[in-house]
Amino acid sequence: MGEVKALRCVTCGTEYDERSINYTCPACGLRRGTLEVIYDYDRIERTWSRNALANDPERTMWRFLPLLPVRDRTYIQPLRVGCTPAYRFTALGERIGGLAELVIKDDGQNPTASYKDRASSVVVIKAQERGESVVTCASTGNAASSLSGFAAATPLEAVIFVPRTAPEAKVAQLLIYGARVFLVRGSYDDAYDLASEAAEAFGWYNRSAAMNPFLVEGKKTGALELAEQFGWNVPDVVFVAVGDGSVISGICKGFEELRRLNWIDRLPRVIGVQAEGSCPVAAAFERSPETGDEVDIVDVEAETVADSICVGKPRDIVKAVRYVRRNGGGFVCVTDAEILDGLAALARETGVFAEPAGATAYAGVKKLALQGELAGKRVAAMITGNGLKDIASARRVAGSPTEIDASIEALRREL
Ligand SMILES: *Cc1c(COP(=O)(O)O)cnc(C)c1O
Ligand SMILES: [Zn+2]
Repeated sequence: MGEVKALRCVTCGTEYDERSINYTCPACGLRRGTLEVIYDYDRIERTWSRNALANDPERTMWRFLPLLPVRDRTYIQPLRVGCTPAYRFTALGERIGGLAELVIKDDGQNPTASYKDRASSVVVIKAQERGESVVTCASTGNAASSLSGFAAATPLEAVIFVPRTAPEAKVAQLLIYGARVFLVRGSYDDAYDLASEAAEAFGWYNRSAAMNPFLVEGKKTGALELAEQFGWNVPDVVFVAVGDGSVISGICKGFEELRRLNWIDRLPRVIGVQAEGSCPVAAAFERSPETGDEVDIVDVEAETVADSICVGKPRDIVKAVRYVRRNGGGFVCVTDAEILDGLAALARETGVFAEPAGATAYAGVKKLALQGELAGKRVAAMITGNGLKDIASARRVAGSPTEIDASIEALRREL
């Protein structure tokens, strides 16, 4: 079972007992003081193995329980989260840039149709372990719909803050799951600050990105699965879209922990893909010194069609930059046009329909493949959200249907 050894500040390294702290390191503040969950890896290495895992019939992300911050199975929801498919498209990879392998991991197949379910599943359990009754978060849309869905499977109530511009399908998800929903007149960054204040004022448990140390634990399970799906011979490069920087931090942490357990013999390079109109993490990565600890943060006014990664004030930027440095990865930025092209190409070439942020990972693959940088490489792309969440964006590149009379002659004339 997962036993948290400590929560460690990413900036000053101070270790806290799980019972003594809720969110972030008081000495380093909200932005730089995000905490990381540390386990007793020696004990895990002694008591768990790849073989034991192979024989475990559990078909959710909870098959990785010894590496998750949950004591036992009491509060694990019946919802099937994780264990999403990893599809091989070898010929396509060869065609777009001589890739040795192309794997598309479809996380749009989670219960509420995004990668965020991995984090919500964990946090909802932590809330119940702590005896909380209300959970809250701010979100561009998916974290909220995910939290609402997972809260719906428990006795917890969810109170949600999303920007007024969140796509309609995501707002419908929130409401149908029974959350109390506030559409904030402002950006995601404004909603984030309001949710934080509300959590403190009313004593709600806060699932907002980066602030809650247990989110990244759920988010790392995509990497654990990918490694297992590759038979522990991990891909050379893994692409994922970046907004706040939590998903990419989780993916990097997952690979690092597998390396620590000696289950894999090297780390994949992880490439974060950002939208050009919202790329403060990529910019900080470029500005920050290769070896130094200081991450140079400059917030921006964000704008992109990929609403889930439209984040001007990324909350997990310190972790994201540090982790990607450590595994030799990097960042690439793509335009909205490239994102929408990627969305259409992914759907047409693989049958996987992604929302814009999900397709952003594939747009990044295509961009570097075209530049010849992925030749001979085994590449994976994390598709983080389902296309049905934002059909308005898909329709911009989908083309239009042909309307005809209901007769075979009319059809012949059109063909
Ligand atoms: C949240 C999200 C991301 C990015 O995750 P961050 O932790 O914000 O970097 C990417 N794609 C989708 C679909 C998301 O919902
Ligand atoms: Zn600190």
